[in-house]
Amino acid sequence: MTFPEPRDSLKALEGYHSPQLDVDVRLNTNESPYPPPPAFVAAWLAELGAAPLHRYPDRSARELRAALAARLDQPVERIFCANGSNEVLQTILLTYGGPDRLALVFEPTYALHEHIARITATPVVLGERGDDFAIDPDDARARIDAEQPDIVFLCSPNNPTGTVDDRELLEVVLDAAPGLVVVDEAYGEFAHRSALDLVGDDVPLVVVRTYSKVWSLAGLRLGLCVAPPRVVAELEKVVLPYHLDFATQIAGTVALRFGSEMERRVALLVEERERLFVELGDRDGITVFPSGANFLLFRIEGGSPDDAGHEVWEAMVRHGVLVRDFSRWPRVEGCLRVTVGTPAENDVFLAALDAAMEEVQGA
Ligand code: PMP
Repeated sequence: MTFPEPRDSLKALEGYHSPQLDVDVRLNTNESPYPPPPAFVAAWLAELGAAPLHRYPDRSARELRAALAARLDQPVERIFCANGSNEVLQTILLTYGGPDRLALVFEPTYALHEHIARITATPVVLGERGDDFAIDPDDARARIDAEQPDIVFLCSPNNPTGTVDDRELLEVVLDAAPGLVVVDEAYGEFAHRSALDLVGDDVPLVVVRTYSKVWSLAGLRLGLCVAPPRVVAELEKVVLPYHLDFATQIAGTVALRFGSEMERRVALLVEERERLFVELGDRDGITVFPSGANFLLFRIEGGSPDDAGHEVWEAMVRHGVLVRDFSRWPRVEGCLRVTVGTPAENDVFLAALDAAMEEVQGA
């Protein structure tokens, strides 16, 4: 019996896997280490309890979008929401990508940009980052001029490197790009620079954000983008009707009332990120890269064995700490990525790293 196969262009896809191992300290998927404030959960559940669940939710999520517009100081017509920023990215690619279109991504970057492009049958061309993981504006212009991509993806701060794009790069890309420029700012709140102020009704720029990190709501799946109203209108035509349920819409609106709590958490995580940056930088055999996000990328340098990055990762798991293993990925060979946790989790991470380095390299 022959069984149906997925279409040819999907056969090579490997799916997106970050192992979810059962360890004491999980610092591998860039979530917030802090649960949302109990007062938020109480307010959310109270409003959800009063919602007419036998009816479909508001298809255009008016209340949520208005609350976001007020917080971001943007017109409501520029706000589009979806189930996580991954669904925002998917909707952008379903709308502006496709087999006769082209997307450009600068590697190494968030794997889902290329992955979702392939799922939507959008051909992808790759640009490269320099040794410091910054994108050179002249290289970017040359690549855009040569390829004429319909969508250019930037990611600032970039996952997995933490790199924050310069304003100059953004201006060059906006000037050169013949199509849409998408800046993924999933970690934007942890950085000192954002592209948000460049969004305008006549600028083909889309800035993507998420509730998963800064709002401690990875478990609820809510993302958004700020884009010209005509782009938002096209995205609304493509996304499935009623895709955002009551629970998600209400959570997104209620969370914004807890802005000062969230800002305190961001400040705490940024402080801890800088502490970890100094700690990692002080260690022999480790190179750490500057980050504007809630994570840090670091390389286990040379030595033997060749696969030291992976071996250190395995040893850390034995010590009960899970970080993300990028050691076998092209362009980030030997690298691991740690999500900034609570101060106590970060101390456990540093101790596990030292023990793992000792075991693997006798450092
Ligand atoms: N963009 C980037 C750069 C990310 O790192 C992530 C999460 N890993 C996402 C988007 C997706 O986040 P979510 O779908 O949870 O909003």
